[in-house]
Amino acid sequence: MIYDLIISGAGPVGLLSAYLAQKSGLKIMILDKAGAPLKRGRADALNARTLQFLELAGLFNEIYPLGLPCKTSSVFKQGQFVSRQSEWWDGLEGCYHKHFLMLGQAKIEKILNEKISVRREVELIDIKIKNDLCVCTLSNGESLTSQYVLGADGARSFVRSHFNIPFPLNRPEIVWAVLDAEFDTDFPMNPEIVVFQSETSDVAKIPREGNIERFYIRMDKKDFKEEEVLSKIRNAIAPYKIKIKRRSWFSQFSVKESVAENYSIENKVFLAGDACHVHSVNGGQGLNTGLADAVNLIWKIQMKINFSIDLLKTYESERIPVAKSVIDSSGALVRATKFSQSGTHAHDYMKIVEERAGNITGMGIHYKDQRRLLDFKVGSTRIYSLLDYTKYTLLTSGDSKLEHIPEYIQVIKMDKTSPYFGKTVLVRPDSYIQKIFDQNEELKLNMVF
Ligand SMILES: Cc1cc2nc3c(=O)[nH]c(=O)nc-3n(C[C@H](O)[C@H](O)[C@H](O)COP(=O)(O)OP(=O)(O)OC[C@H]3O[C@@H](n4cnc5c(N)ncnc54)[C@H](O)[C@@H]3O)c2cc1C
Repeated sequence: MIYDLIISGAGPVGLLSAYLAQKSGLKIMILDKAGAPLKRGRADALNARTLQFLELAGLFNEIYPLGLPCKTSSVFKQGQFVSRQSEWWDGLEGCYHKHFLMLGQAKIEKILNEKISVRREVELIDIKIKNDLCVCTLSNGESLTSQYVLGADGARSFVRSHFNIPFPLNRPEIVWAVLDAEFDTDFPMNPEIVVFQSETSDVAKIPREGNIERFYIRMDKKDFKEEEVLSKIRNAIAPYKIKIKRRSWFSQFSVKESVAENYSIENKVFLAGDACHVHSVNGGQGLNTGLADAVNLIWKIQMKINFSIDLLKTYESERIPVAKSVIDSSGALVRATKFSQSGTHAHDYMKIVEERAGNITGMGIHYKDQRRLLDFKVGSTRIYSLLDYTKYTLLTSGDSKLEHIPEYIQVIKMDKTSPYFGKTVLVRPDSYIQKIFDQNEELKLNMVF
């Protein structure tokens, strides 16, 4: 049997890729060396663009109610409220969920893991590209053949190193501790992000779903005890008092920054997620960027296999610049927590969030002139709930007569309330606009691809 796609790694990016590929009718195999999905910790927020992608994937209604919407960020200094802001969410156009959805990575993995069958406790140990096919060897000696392979195998990606793809790491020598817990405190634990300004700005509180809260604590050294972390939290929050009621997860990570030089080998083997970009957690962009890689890639594989439309080379050319912009924005944020010329680190941090809001909300990401489709009402529903990830969508105005529409394009009629009324709009399966035609322009669809 020849698979369409073998995916190595069932973290969130591999799992979403497998789910989208399965939905697109592809024959897939996904494997992971770990025995089970993540139980707790790691990434904690889905941005507004990811929420739109979940809608395309048909996952939104299941995932959204589990999380906590959060759009405000406040600054506190020595127990005093300084400022509260949310303009970059409020100002978003064409979007009905203008906020982060705070939700642990483990919850997302659990939902996806239940929808697909993952082969576990087996590792990918070799890949060869032969006669336009990929031959994969697994740690149990099995050999599997596929048309394409996706390395969604995390920051230490075997696939990336096997093909010697350069991944030069920049280490800004910043270490974060992360603590998820239920707390006893008289500090107002509103569902908002709080950045604390003391000497620098080394503590931030992130609201989470359920009863837990998360603290990020910049430690500036590798070996530290939990008591040192708690002491930094107490210092930041004083004169309010805080103690842990129940600890859920405690971890640390040293910031590393890199983007792989290539995301593809001969347009047969691809990389996605942490396998091809790593950076600081500031701005919550790691998981979101990885999920967006999956959304950008899988329909292109489907279109190539089923309809011989070959856009595979655009995966790398579209996604590498995005990862570079994410490194710039998370890098500026993490450095602002430590270095400030004016001594107002938390204020500087918020300025950067405002300037880089396109990355942080996900809504500013675009591919050259291909921008996201704005969401708008269609009858009693919205266009994003009508888009189909396995097809292009042609949005029409009025009664234009359409002939010879290929099966990979669905047609939806807009009414006057649409911001695109009067035009004909070809939307990619991942909800970016491929082309806008004037109403009288001849629809030469086959010239578009
Ligand atoms: C300690 C830690 C804390 C973090 N905290 C945050 C945070 O607070 N906020 C945030 O936004 N992000 C955080 N992140 C980053 C976030 O978790 C990642 O961006 C996200 O997990 C990337 O998903 P992924 O699917 O690309 O990779 P991963 O989640 O790393 O998944 C890769 C999968 O591949 C499997 N695998 C690896 N090699 C092989 C092989 N050869 N064969 C088969 N399977 C293989 C692994 O077992 C794993 O399941 C953190 C990461 C770490 C490590």
